[in-house]
Amino acid sequence: MDELRIGDRILAITRGDITTIPADAIVNAANSALVGGGGVDGAIHRAGGPSIMAELRERYGPNRHCPTGSAVVTGAGNLPAHWVIHAVGPVWRGGRAGEPELLAAAYRTSCELASSLGARTITFPAISTGVYGYPLEEATRVALAAVRDHLAGTTTLERATFVLFSADSYEVFERALEALRQA
Ligand code: ADP
Repeated sequence: MDELRIGDRILAITRGDITTIPADAIVNAANSALVGGGGVDGAIHRAGGPSIMAELRERYGPNRHCPTGSAVVTGAGNLPAHWVIHAVGPVWRGGRAGEPELLAAAYRTSCELASSLGARTITFPAISTGVYGYPLEEATRVALAAVRDHLAGTTTLERATFVLFSADSYEVFERALEALRQA
């Protein structure tokens, strides 16, 4: 666990499985069709149970679509949370298809939704850095900057934590957090 203070708020990183760490809101790296998938999306639906998918179906219909850079909210089923925020990050297409803006938007929208719900704590995976192929170092800079900017403004969030699944991604986030601290 490592953290950076932003006013009276905290931006933190930790290693682990996001489905096991309590938070008011857990962010999922979802796909636009909101149909579940592999990676962290699969882990969240498995650990949370069928109520999360049932709610997505009921609220957003069989032809549901969440645009890239946006997010939707459901309950959290059996997860140690009140809400899951299903955020859609961009697929990496080389970096000139608006990927940084879309990735920042996915984090920003998630933070704004969490604040609109009154959440005080939120956890994130490293969105788009798995199957979606976003280079880890670049994704890390975008992710930390977007969440830091949100925490520096008006929000109910007191603590935002990136939960990194692999030692590699933890190390990259650790270095980037240190760079932000020096900035
Ligand atoms: P995307 O499709 O947005 O790339 P993935 O789920 O493939 O999403 O990967 C996003 C990140 O989530 C990857 O860095 C992957 O290692 C990580 N991840 C996978 N499972 C978990 C988990 N249980 N908790 C936290 N992070 C996870």
